[in-house]
Amino acid sequence: MENSFPDIEIEHDPARRGATKRGPTKRGPEDFNKCDLCTNSKCCTYVTQQIDTPRSKYDFEILLWQVSHEGVGAYKDSDGWFVMFESRCRHLLVDGRCGIYEDRPSICRSHSNDYCEYDAPAEDGFDLYFPDYESLLRYCRKRFKRWTTGNPPP
Ligand code: SF4
Ligand code: SF4
Repeated sequence: MENSFPDIEIEHDPARRGATKRGPTKRGPEDFNKCDLCTNSKCCTYVTQQIDTPRSKYDFEILLWQVSHEGVGAYKDSDGWFVMFESRCRHLLVDGRCGIYEDRPSICRSHSNDYCEYDAPAEDGFDLYFPDYESLLRYCRKRFKRWTTGNPPP
């Protein structure tokens, strides 16, 4: 298959909303904070990737393909468009602690739990949310007057 991924930009700024949601600061052995009350550690169960704002029909064709896969969704928030992959971090221990706490990536270190998914689902902050193919197809049909799936590349 020809490479049809859109140009993607890895989000490095931990202050951005997308990074906040995907980058947890899990508790260490000596700490006790809100994370100790959190049983599902949602913030460690998916990753996000910022993408260029989709504009053309073909851009949405690519997104439709991506969200057709299990555990892949897309959303837009105040920072832009993101693809989201449901995937539990393999370092997340069964008791909810980080198995590589001393060596965890910087995104995990910089995450704040001041207001996180323990307080409200991330979707509450989305402007648009497409958890699957069907929801995105409905959006395409509304956004483009004459939408027929199968639009070729420009
Ligand atoms: S969702 Fe919030 S409270 Fe739960 S582990 Fe992540 S940062 Fe901590
Ligand atoms: S490395 Fe640790 S803190 Fe980071 S996502 Fe995985 S379990 Fe969570």
